[in-house]
Amino acid sequence: MIRLSNIEKRFGELTVLKSVSVTVAEGRVTALIGPSGGGKSTLLRCINLLEIPTAGTVRIGEEELAFKPGGKPGWKDIQRLRGQTGMVFQNFQLFPHRTAVENVMEGLVTVQKWPAEKAREHAMALLHKVGMAHKAEAWPATLSGGQQQRVAIARALAPSPRVLLCDEPTSALDPELSGEVVEVLGTLAAEGTTMVMATHDLRLASRIAHEVVFLDGGEVVETGPSRELFTRPARERTQRFIATLT
Ligand code: ADP
Ligand code: MG
Repeated sequence: MIRLSNIEKRFGELTVLKSVSVTVAEGRVTALIGPSGGGKSTLLRCINLLEIPTAGTVRIGEEELAFKPGGKPGWKDIQRLRGQTGMVFQNFQLFPHRTAVENVMEGLVTVQKWPAEKAREHAMALLHKVGMAHKAEAWPATLSGGQQQRVAIARALAPSPRVLLCDEPTSALDPELSGEVVEVLGTLAAEGTTMVMATHDLRLASRIAHEVVFLDGGEVVETGPSRELFTRPARERTQRFIATLT
């Protein structure tokens, strides 16, 4: 479903990603783990092209785009790839002046030009899925962090993306509230949603990730099935990092 080949990302002199290659099969969940500054968020942003890779190839489903230093991809091509993805952020980033259901509808109405009524129906079905239908008319500020994140997940799913990208989806939540977000993501994973998530949350990663990629210093140090990588990491750098998580 996703194939990242030799992705390099530079910010001026600083190389943040060094020839990163990651493949995610349809219906699988990959967790990106690693120390702060290791490049997890940048890699996620290179998948939905919020950052343009300096070099390498991004493929999502049937859509593929190659990047070269100095080359500039067309806006249409970027939109085509970005349209395959939905993104969930650490700090929810809901529109504060829109109700929960309006947050979920927004992109469908403004970008995809759906009629409001049809968008509302679809949004309600998604709110139901994340257990937030009863708060459809609530303002984001009146919702707990866990509830806001569940609305944000519904919003990310609204255009039916091929892949859901999550950047530290539980990091802003205390353990009690992160549990409900883990539950929702777990349900989506069980339904076969393809996901890539950056996380420090061992509970989240070990519960729902099939594969784990350990990223340190902009490089993939180790990758493997989550059970193996968490219990028997091959590399010493991975072992040391996992010890800090528990
Ligand atoms: P992580 O999510 O693993 O903590 P990031 O992808 O956020 O790591 O950051 C990786 C590195 O890239 C860091 O050194 C960070 O300072 C740098 N970086 C990220 N975004 C930018 C940017 N827009 N401009 C310059 N440097 C950046
Ligand atoms: Mg990050």
